[in-house]
Amino acid sequence: MPDRDALLTSLIPDLDRHRGDDLVVRSPIDGKELARLRADRPSEVDEKIGRAVFAFRTWRDVPAPRRGELVRRFGEQLRKHKESLATLVTLECGKIIEEGRGEVQEMIDICDFAVGLSRQLYGLTIASERPNHVMQENWLPLGPVAIISAFNFPVAVWSWNSALALVCGDPCLWKPSEKTPLTALACQRLFEDTASEFGVDGNGLSQVVLGTGEQGAMLVQDPRIPLVSATGSCRMGQAIAPIVAARFGRALLELGGNNAIIVTPSADLDVAVPSILFGSVGTAGQRCTSTRRVIAHRSIVDRLFATLSGAYRQIGASKVGDPLSPSTLVGPLIDQAAYEMMQTAIERIRPEALEIVGGDRALADTYPDAAYVHPCLVRLGANSKTLDDETFAPLTYVIPYDTLEEAIEIHNSVPQGLSSAIMTTDLREAEAFKRYSDCGIANVNIGTSGAEIGGAFGGEKETGGGRESGSDSWKAYMRRQTSTTFFGREKPALAQGITFDV
Ligand code: NAD
Repeated sequence: MPDRDALLTSLIPDLDRHRGDDLVVRSPIDGKELARLRADRPSEVDEKIGRAVFAFRTWRDVPAPRRGELVRRFGEQLRKHKESLATLVTLECGKIIEEGRGEVQEMIDICDFAVGLSRQLYGLTIASERPNHVMQENWLPLGPVAIISAFNFPVAVWSWNSALALVCGDPCLWKPSEKTPLTALACQRLFEDTASEFGVDGNGLSQVVLGTGEQGAMLVQDPRIPLVSATGSCRMGQAIAPIVAARFGRALLELGGNNAIIVTPSADLDVAVPSILFGSVGTAGQRCTSTRRVIAHRSIVDRLFATLSGAYRQIGASKVGDPLSPSTLVGPLIDQAAYEMMQTAIERIRPEALEIVGGDRALADTYPDAAYVHPCLVRLGANSKTLDDETFAPLTYVIPYDTLEEAIEIHNSVPQGLSSAIMTTDLREAEAFKRYSDCGIANVNIGTSGAEIGGAFGGEKETGGGRESGSDSWKAYMRRQTSTTFFGREKPALAQGITFDV
């Protein structure tokens, strides 16, 4: 167990500046208090937005590759502090240390991606229908970006947004989850140190707004912020989307998932089982991409359920525990409320369940103020409407199917559309699945969770439609301008052949 105070002081030397009584931050490992912080007052949020607007005026004119150099140096800082930052991630959100390291690695990876991108922010040159005209697309910095993040990826999702936004020329305002503000302060500290060595005011380019949904809402409402990138529950997305739309702002929404894996008769179970286990019990089921449903062909469902339930029992018996211990695979839930939500979901499905493995509280004697659970696997006889909600916990349903069409219909029947997978060795099934899965992510022989940063990440339907991270997601952080230039000496022609002779 690391010395918590020493870790906090080394990563956030100015922590005392943020102390107050508004936010009580507890470690899900044992429920003990890590710090009490002060939330930003409305006037302070207003001031921070003003500072971001001011920073934009100079940052947008810094050449993009130079902006990339700042992000490159920030990535170097992250490399240097990877282990301590990963430990703080684990301490504050409870994911196992291996995944804490993975989260910081994801930040490093997106910094590298953004550095390359800073030399590739190019638009098209488009054939003009008129002689001696050139038509082109210019991609220009957008303005301050609000980044609202969820507790379960307390730092990686911020970096997906901020690394791209910064190279695109946009300052960032980060409202982290009220459950994980310390990791945000630690990243901010590293960023400010990097920026000051680089010779810019980091405090204008990236700022943390501390608070709850109330402070988040202030960013959402403010017309000085052209882009609100919000990650969290569908409920949060439903609350903020109309507000951003009413002021003609842009919302980039990364909301809840209800992800499924279809396991076909041809599936290689040696490939399928580890993918299902990582997707369903990894991160204690607290990933937006966690596997919530396994839709298995009737011919293999008995065998699959027997294998999975054996693994669940084994994990429940020996792999649930302190996430800082290297032998732990399943850490705690974020808090007691998450535990209660999981229990409510289990009770709701119980009348329909053919068999339930796990689901009860674990380690209650050792950690009375924390919420550890034995991962829960529920076997069902048919699909059920009660599976529409995302339960943010290690709770997975196994549902049988007879035809692939039926499997895809069950798969697509939920309101969310984030991640999906099929386990098959049949090319036709794989291609049909990719065509008809209604999700933003559709994997073959890979589970639903654990995306790489190179692809665009996000989902459809109630998941919100946003795309972040790789591919051309950077376009969300810039404004597109179409520009036509006439360079001839003759009288310029009008488009569509219109004549307008005066
Ligand atoms: P949450 O919705 O409770 O909170 C997320 C953030 O939104 C927090 O910072 C919170 O303070 C803020 N917020 C809440 N109400 C707000 C409002 N009215 N205005 C502005 N801000 C507001 O989510 P959570 O419990 O922290 O995270 C879990 C959820 O996040 C799950 O549903 C999960 O699937 C989702 N998630 C999605 C992705 C994705 O990329 N699709 C990634 C991670 C998590």
